[in-house]
Amino acid sequence: MLQFLKSSQRLLLTTKSGWQVALSEDVLQQLHGYRQTGSMMPEAGGVLLGKLLQEGGTGIVEALTKPGRGDRQSRFGFFRSERHHRETQSYWRTTAQTGAYLGLWHTHPEPVPTPSAVDLADWKRALRQDLYPGQGLLFVIVGTDAVGFWIGGKRKRIELIGHWPWELNDV
Ligand SMILES: [Zn+2]
Repeated sequence: MLQFLKSSQRLLLTTKSGWQVALSEDVLQQLHGYRQTGSMMPEAGGVLLGKLLQEGGTGIVEALTKPGRGDRQSRFGFFRSERHHRETQSYWRTTAQTGAYLGLWHTHPEPVPTPSAVDLADWKRALRQDLYPGQGLLFVIVGTDAVGFWIGGKRKRIELIGHWPWELNDV
């Protein structure tokens, strides 16, 4: 379920099992800015960073790593470099070790995004190999008309939380 909380200017995502993740307005605006609206715009992506309100509890995505040096970007592909991992570690240090790795994001040149086989393999690899403090990882695909949210966990299947239309919900 997706719910925009006007009071805190956050988009709240609730999974079927009841786990909640929120995205700050600033993060939504940054994601919105990477939409592949121009015909030449390459895919972009990075890591979602933020806090957990308590151990295993609600996550709040407050920052993201951005595409750039070391990444391979094309119209239909994005490969994260090691730099995102280093930036995640430095975020953890600069937030006095309260900042956490919460998930992954990337863009698609399609209106309402769905994960490709490559995406699903990448997400499963992340769930298996990466260290994360929450109950799972959030996966975001930024489409041109809507942004899609998926969640996965160590012993949970990857599930769609929902799509949020950009135009109806200007950020
Ligand atoms: Zn993709």
